[in-house]
Amino acid sequence: MSALEQNIASAEAYLERFKANTVGHFIAGKPVLAAGAKTYTNVTPTNNSSLGEVVIGTEADVDQACEAAEAAFVAWRDMPGSERKKILHHFADKIVERAEGIALVESMDCGQPIRFMKQAAIRGAANFRFFADKAAEAKNGLSLHQEEHTNFTVRTPIGPVGIITPWNTPFMLATWKIAPALAAGCTIVHKPAELTPLSAMLLAEIAADAGLLSGVWNTVNGFGEVAGKRLTEHPAIKAVALVGESSTGSHIMRQGADTLKRMHFELGGKNPVIVFDDADFDRALDAVVFMIYSLNGQRCTSSSRLVLQSGIKHKFLAALSQRVKALKVGHPLDPQTEVGPLVHVEHFEKVLSYMDIAKQDGASIEVGGAGYDHGHCSVATASNLAKGNFVQPTLFCVANNKMRIAQEEIFGPVLTAIEFDTEAQAIEIANDTAYGLAGYIWTNDNSRAMRLAHAIDAGMLWINSENNRNLPSPFGGTKMSGIGRDGGDYSFDFYMETKNVCIAHGTHKVPVLGAVND
Ligand code: NAD
Repeated sequence: MSALEQNIASAEAYLERFKANTVGHFIAGKPVLAAGAKTYTNVTPTNNSSLGEVVIGTEADVDQACEAAEAAFVAWRDMPGSERKKILHHFADKIVERAEGIALVESMDCGQPIRFMKQAAIRGAANFRFFADKAAEAKNGLSLHQEEHTNFTVRTPIGPVGIITPWNTPFMLATWKIAPALAAGCTIVHKPAELTPLSAMLLAEIAADAGLLSGVWNTVNGFGEVAGKRLTEHPAIKAVALVGESSTGSHIMRQGADTLKRMHFELGGKNPVIVFDDADFDRALDAVVFMIYSLNGQRCTSSSRLVLQSGIKHKFLAALSQRVKALKVGHPLDPQTEVGPLVHVEHFEKVLSYMDIAKQDGASIEVGGAGYDHGHCSVATASNLAKGNFVQPTLFCVANNKMRIAQEEIFGPVLTAIEFDTEAQAIEIANDTAYGLAGYIWTNDNSRAMRLAHAIDAGMLWINSENNRNLPSPFGGTKMSGIGRDGGDYSFDFYMETKNVCIAHGTHKVPVLGAVND
């Protein structure tokens, strides 16, 4: 048996129960599925066959979940941080125990290659451990002194919160958002993406297994326009954390207006990777390839615009084309696979539509430019790929930054290369976008790197590196890429209220009104 066949057999065993029984919700510590509930079919992007039925959550289902989160809040809030720490570490242990199953289910549900999903499962556990260790200190504040008063601040969890996540790396992103909320003392209602509901159910099971109080963790499946919308409107929910598209952020801001929800948005990006003539050629090339073609290009921090200095243009593009042609496209459960299928046929068609848009705009398609059922395929496994949502890794050249392929988030294995001459032009191109999530700068000139780091309008910049994550560092974007930051204490600032307590020393003069003169 090949490694792929073995993985498929193991995945089938994990997926069997999802195929046999409708996936419901998880509310107040147990699975919930109302009799006669409506369902939709969840499909795998590998060949668009069914992975089973999933419940379409109603407003009433969401209300039930929000009420459960509200009822559990005081007990979870008042539990000592040291106790929450133990439970969350236990949670991380359970993720590690189940990591293989999580990775296999995730790959089949969202199409991401198993080589990345194994890491993503382990990163999920790391997210829990990192915030578990901070649970006891989350309340800490400042002490601020005046002559006759002393002020101190203390933080308290904001209340039940709504967590809405996307389909690109569903398991890892859910843990990234939920772990700090729980560590802070908030209870949660999670609405996973409708295209990838399965790993969220595994997380809910782990919540029950790890000993979370009933109602602390609730998961509601269904569509954004109904279940997601209700979650953002429910009065018990005090804050909403969304990872998703920029347009969804706008909807949610409107939906949460009446109940004045606190909002945190991690949204889309069109991130530049700027490579100067003096960059370390080989390292820059590796990073450019990795940051757009890993995770199928379905990655918010992907470097989807290559901004390349003219002196190395020919050499760099030649080497890049070779690498893009050599990428291993295949079944996500094949350990050799570097690029898997796109999450859903509609997304696949959206990504393919940019091939025509590129031609209309006047760009050239240097590599790729089609799906695998379009007869352009050069890899041996092509015939097996025709039923899945596989797109050829694509490189657009002769592009300029005004083209749609340089302005819109394509969210697939598609890179747009744009040439520049001067540092000022590089900055102008980098900033000429509605987004501001991330940027990557490759140069051996430190002063130039510093100038660019300050001049580029984005939440995160990496110099001579691919996306390297440090959990205490702030993660988030500017402009249409989001509002707020995650990571370390930044996450607690979102999930907690800061209260100021002012104590008089008993020496100051209290103003006197209505004094009676004898
Ligand atoms: P999406 O916005 O379509 O969906 C995200 C979630 O929002 C889903 O659970 C969906 O059901 C829900 N939703 C949709 N409409 C809603 C509404 N009106 N009210 C409440 N909930 C609603 O995003 P997607 O297509 O699932 O994910 C891809 C997007 O996510 C890309 O734009 C990508 O850049 C972004 N993303 C950003 C980050 C980041 O950290 N900045 C990370 C990963 C993905």
